[in-house]
Amino acid sequence: MAGRSEALESICVFCGSSEAADPAFLAAAKALGQALAQADLRLVYGGGGVGLMGACARAAHAAGGRVLGIIPDFLMGKERALETVEHVIVSNMHERKMMMFERSDGFVILPGGIGTLEEVVELLSWGRLDLHRKPVVFYNPRNFWKTLFDCFQMTVDERLTPPEFMGSWRSVERVEDIIPALREMAGPSADAVARKA
Ligand code: AMP
Repeated sequence: MAGRSEALESICVFCGSSEAADPAFLAAAKALGQALAQADLRLVYGGGGVGLMGACARAAHAAGGRVLGIIPDFLMGKERALETVEHVIVSNMHERKMMMFERSDGFVILPGGIGTLEEVVELLSWGRLDLHRKPVVFYNPRNFWKTLFDCFQMTVDERLTPPEFMGSWRSVERVEDIIPALREMAGPSADAVARKA
């Protein structure tokens, strides 16, 4: 499994697939897609055309950014795969998550449902096991992630998780703070790459 990655080139976005999400969340997903394209960061995502994931990918693509979708065969129809962008069809969810992990240098978590929760909990758990040190940034509009953060803190308070775990991600409230937070977490080499660009 890949370890520390300081140069940021590809950013994985985990987010909801629901079409019924708050329009403000959909707008934020779109703004993030545009920001990734403008920063010349490739978007790696779940490959669908629905919900926040579709909004983010379409915006990145429309802004001239590189996009890689990774979608399991059985979700091609349900998540309405975006076939206009580069995509890989895999055979199951495990393969999808592993490929999303391996092809990315950092992760952004936008509001999402149970699928997003599953993805981010695994990612943070792998970090806790020192399987990676890739930056993880939550976009936290109107404190959407508060209950998840509280749940993590409860496991720390119960001495089930080490306190350092609470420092293994960043949380920002504005879309424009997402990429700077990723760069800050990734360390000096990523900053150098960004300055050269
Ligand atoms: P949701 O947050 O529930 O809307 O799901 C967001 C995305 O996560 C969708 O593309 C789902 O297909 C995906 N997803 C849900 N469960 C899993 C899983 N176990 N492994 C990988 N992706 C998943």
